[in-house]
Amino acid sequence: MTETVDALAGLVAGGGVVVLSGAGLSTESGIPDYRGPSGAARRHTPMTYQVFTGDAQARRRYWARGHLGWRVIARAAPNDGHRAVARLQRGGLVDGVITQNVDGLHTAAGSPRVVELHGRLDEVVCLGCGNQTSREELDRRLREANPGFDARVAAVNPDGDVDLDDDEVARFRTVDCTFCGTGVLKPDVVFFGETVPAPRVARCFDMVQRARLLLVLGSSLTVMSGRRFVLRAAKLGIPVVIVNQGPTRGDGYAALTLDASLGRLLPALADRTVGAPAGGDVVSGAVPSGLTGVGR
Ligand SMILES: [Zn+2]
Repeated sequence: MTETVDALAGLVAGGGVVVLSGAGLSTESGIPDYRGPSGAARRHTPMTYQVFTGDAQARRRYWARGHLGWRVIARAAPNDGHRAVARLQRGGLVDGVITQNVDGLHTAAGSPRVVELHGRLDEVVCLGCGNQTSREELDRRLREANPGFDARVAAVNPDGDVDLDDDEVARFRTVDCTFCGTGVLKPDVVFFGETVPAPRVARCFDMVQRARLLLVLGSSLTVMSGRRFVLRAAKLGIPVVIVNQGPTRGDGYAALTLDASLGRLLPALADRTVGAPAGGDVVSGAVPSGLTGVGR
């Protein structure tokens, strides 16, 4: 571990670091990483944008499962890895964070300048009128529309990846937008088959191009949505360091790859480079968002 920290600290100490984080950073917060070491356990095919928008029955199933999974995720809190990233930012070594995670945990850990590439699961958007509301508000409405539903099927899958039989799904009542009255509601996250808004992508490319070092944390770089930043950095001669449990699709472009627990490695890295936190890492009171059944 010491040698690993030394190698990483030597690269990070120069500053100008941009972090690209993925699901592996949030597993220690209890949020399952479907593509990580235990990814084979995934039971459900990810929802695509096309299915979500085109199939009312699929939407009903999505919201029924998501309604239960939300409980698990809404309880999740930032872990030592998130807090260490925030400390590296405050210490001036990390300029910005691009995250593929939709759980809001970087922000909850006190990180400024976070680009949430795939959106946030604690926000809901109307596909009809574009009105945005909070997941908390939707959660309240879904509870009202489905009394007793939670009690019947909760505790089935503690990781939030809920199995529901067809009868339960058929009984579940979805709700529509209260602003326009008819619009379909969708979590404000990027599903498979959906593109990340262009201005958001441009902002990320701009961050990467200014970076001295791109540090990938807990992403297998399976989807091009994140991998393209590694490709861009490599093309520009910006060194890429990847810390992930298991191989990634960006390893061939990396100056250094490390297989380590982020919750242990990152605090050690922050201690080494910006010093121990005064009075402990800052934890904000922000409530994290959650995820289940989300594409990526
Ligand atoms: Zn609407």
